[in-house]
Amino acid sequence: MSKPLVLFDLDGTLVDHDAAELSAITGWIGAAGFPADVDGVPSEQVWRQVSEAAFPDYFAGRLTFEEQRRVRVRTFLPMMGVRVEEMADAELDRHFLEYRSRYEASWQPFPDAVDCLLRLRSTHRLAVLTNGDQSQQDDKMRRTGLAALVETTIASSSLGMSKPMAGAFHAALTRLGADPTTTTYVGDRLDTDARAACAAGLAGVWLNRAADSGEARDVRVIATLDDLP
Ligand SMILES: [Mg+2]
Repeated sequence: MSKPLVLFDLDGTLVDHDAAELSAITGWIGAAGFPADVDGVPSEQVWRQVSEAAFPDYFAGRLTFEEQRRVRVRTFLPMMGVRVEEMADAELDRHFLEYRSRYEASWQPFPDAVDCLLRLRSTHRLAVLTNGDQSQQDDKMRRTGLAALVETTIASSSLGMSKPMAGAFHAALTRLGADPTTTTYVGDRLDTDARAACAAGLAGVWLNRAADSGEARDVRVIATLDDLP
């Protein structure tokens, strides 16, 4: 009998995306001399809001990966006092690189991630299913050393579907030759990860790192990956 499969989300689950994002945006704001806040909202938080607003269009396929980057820069820079009306795509991309290079340099696995994968490896098949761009997520897995610990990383851009769609989970399982009933999905978002996995027939686990309160009696909840095995 083949080993049961554990599928992991990537950002916020194995890699500390929030810390990398904060370090990158703080560095960019400092280097560029941007204002510290916009009407009392810290500029770091403004960037996060601008990004969160752009992601749904990317995940729904209405923007390409490159386009969502340009939309974020085009929205953010005027708030920082930079005019963008005349900016060509190449110039927007150069601005985004100020953020992106710092973001990539800040990628770190969570302290519990490596231990968890090492512990489960002998008894389970391990893989990653993440919403995002395949080449960026592959790069993130490689640079953090996590790629060596799992079979493969499957990003939504290569499936043409994103979580929480059940089809994204099923397409990933088909690629892995695995069955939903013997697969566990672990992620830091209650609805997009844990509940969506359950709805697709997998065992969904919510990794509630921030100890957010809220009703989640319908899925298994863990506070750290140490609690998974
Ligand atoms: Mg996540």
